[in-house]
Amino acid sequence: MSQDTHSVTQSDVIVIGGGLVGTAVAYGLARSGADTRVLDQGDNAFRASRGNFGLVWVQGKGHDLPDYSRWTRSSAVRWSGFAEALMADSGVDVQLKQPGGFHMCFSDEELRERQSRLQTLQDALGDYPFQMLDAAELKARLPLIGPAVVGASYTPQDGHVNPLKLLRALHTSAQGRGARFHSGVQVDRIDCAPGEFRVRVGQRQFVAPRVVLAAGLGNPGLAQQVGLHAPVAPNRGQVLISERVKPFLDYPTINVRQTDEGTVQLGDSMEEVGFDDGTSTQVLAAIARRGVSTFPLLRDVRLIRAWGALRVMSPDGFPIYQQSPTHPGAFVVTCHSGVTLAAAHALRIAPWIMGGAMPDELSVFAGDRFLTDKVFSHAH
Ligand SMILES: Cc1cc2nc3c(=O)[nH]c(=O)nc-3n(C[C@H](O)[C@H](O)[C@H](O)COP(=O)(O)OP(=O)(O)OC[C@H]3O[C@@H](n4cnc5c(N)ncnc54)[C@H](O)[C@@H]3O)c2cc1C
Repeated sequence: MSQDTHSVTQSDVIVIGGGLVGTAVAYGLARSGADTRVLDQGDNAFRASRGNFGLVWVQGKGHDLPDYSRWTRSSAVRWSGFAEALMADSGVDVQLKQPGGFHMCFSDEELRERQSRLQTLQDALGDYPFQMLDAAELKARLPLIGPAVVGASYTPQDGHVNPLKLLRALHTSAQGRGARFHSGVQVDRIDCAPGEFRVRVGQRQFVAPRVVLAAGLGNPGLAQQVGLHAPVAPNRGQVLISERVKPFLDYPTINVRQTDEGTVQLGDSMEEVGFDDGTSTQVLAAIARRGVSTFPLLRDVRLIRAWGALRVMSPDGFPIYQQSPTHPGAFVVTCHSGVTLAAAHALRIAPWIMGGAMPDELSVFAGDRFLTDKVFSHAH
């Protein structure tokens, strides 16, 4: 046992969950000088942050809830400064590239629907640049595109990163700024007293006037202990990785991207299969077929790895951000686009937690919305 046995650790904030969301918030908190403790479950946990696709993606998001689009864009525009800050604090280059991104369409109907979705966003937000490209225009931009692709939408705001480097950069940067991480710590109970939250872990206690629930799929049970509602559930995505190939794709797309290391990542499946993070041949075959239809050169490229990982999905697909009305100082922060939103989590959520104003866009994202009938449609 370490010297910590029987100890009481007092800090400014406890963050529960050390995935992309908790660590981005912790980094923001530590940057502002807050004494921050991160408690994270350990290697047997479900961790979306270690199995994702790496897109910093704006395109099409929030067509039925413009505040989600605003929030997403507020993160995307902060991303380059954020990546530089991570580089300065950790020495890790997260390989951010934001050249804009393509969403391929395989039928005229898909293309029409796509146009209508992006037009809706442009009408609602004004400044929302996008282009619709037919097959010939697309081929001029992406010469290796396959004949099955009838066209695509393009927006200049999209990008991608190496998500594992991002997680490492966040951990290193947060710790460099003074945040302390405790792994192998499963939080089951939060004791609340006025102005104080107390987490007991074995003989140890962590005490702080603020607690942030960023425990991904662990949030529902923790939220109810502090007067919050966070009914997130798993949504499985399967992913394929190829061997390294010569650079052929300078842009991220929704289902295929070439990583900074030269491998090609394919995927965009969504399945509701409970807490099963396995893979299935049927879904992987469909992902591979779509990838080959998009870029026929992939037919000759070997696949070397496949996995399934669980997204953290709320019933309407939008994030949940709220301070507890009954236990002020307790916050929930959870979403299914933790790569895209990492900059906003560090730079805009953290100041709110430390007593600043809640960012304007966030009032619609309280978990309490699920206690009424007002549920929006599934977002992506
Ligand atoms: C296949 C796939 C593709 C994706 N692609 C993208 C993408 O391209 N772009 C994008 O923006 N997002 C993407 N995402 C989503 C993104 O990965 C997630 O939004 C993000 O990882 C969620 O981070 P998190 O910290 O909330 O959750 P997690 O990574 O699941 O971390 C939660 C942490 O909380 C800890 N925890 C849980 N319960 C407890 C407890 N009781 N006590 C202590 N600790 C606890 C766990 O140990 C875990 O480390 C994708 C996700 C998947 C699965």
